[in-house]
Amino acid sequence: MNPEQLKQYLEFYRDLGVKELYRHSTQQAQAAAAAPTPIAEPNIPIELPPIVPAGDTLEAIRLDIGDCKRCRLCEQRNKIVFGVGDEQAKLVFVGEGPGADEDAQGFPFVGRAGQLLTQMIENTASKEGIPLKRENVYICNVVKCRPPENRTPLPDEMEICGQFLFRQLSVIKPKAVCALGSTAAKALLGTKDGVTRLRGNWQKWRDIPVMVTYHPSYLLRPYNQNAKREAWEDLKKILHYVYD
Ligand code: URA
Repeated sequence: MNPEQLKQYLEFYRDLGVKELYRHSTQQAQAAAAAPTPIAEPNIPIELPPIVPAGDTLEAIRLDIGDCKRCRLCEQRNKIVFGVGDEQAKLVFVGEGPGADEDAQGFPFVGRAGQLLTQMIENTASKEGIPLKRENVYICNVVKCRPPENRTPLPDEMEICGQFLFRQLSVIKPKAVCALGSTAAKALLGTKDGVTRLRGNWQKWRDIPVMVTYHPSYLLRPYNQNAKREAWEDLKKILHYVYD
């Protein structure tokens, strides 16, 4: 296996949530080292197990989610909030998880934070001369069920539900993703860095550029005027990158 194949293998298992690697004991390693050198194999590409089922669609992902009971978030949810918008969108917004309004209606970002997100998208686009409405983008969350009391999703919940988010992004193949808040950033980038550190610069999820910015709920707090200005800057950058 060449280094690139090894990298792909490790990334595949990392995306599946495998966090630990086991190596042979020293004895086994010594025995392996003492064994005759195998004849060099031709560089045949290793077939990796697909992360995304062939011919995947958003409909198939929703069907796979079904009446999901894979984690504890199913216990108190009313509706699964899958995602909404243009299935061929060039831009996808990823939030954290549904709140009370989203849980009741089954659609992401329909409460106060959602209204702010809609304004941010449409007003910024309009000011920048880009004809864009909320329905032209795709909006979804890391977890599809509301965490009780709107708490932050736990790592295992993010891992289980993250596979569906990854499939959604792989199907839509947007030109860019906007990660709203630190949970979305963590799910997509695997980093513990906060929004303040990450925002303003392009990151990557697989091959797709990702811009992290503040979550609209955070911007709703009255003392976060500076963050608001920064979020508008980030959004301008994203919109010009995607739609110019
Ligand atoms: N906050 C989120 O992260 N997602 C929603 O859908 C609503 C509020």
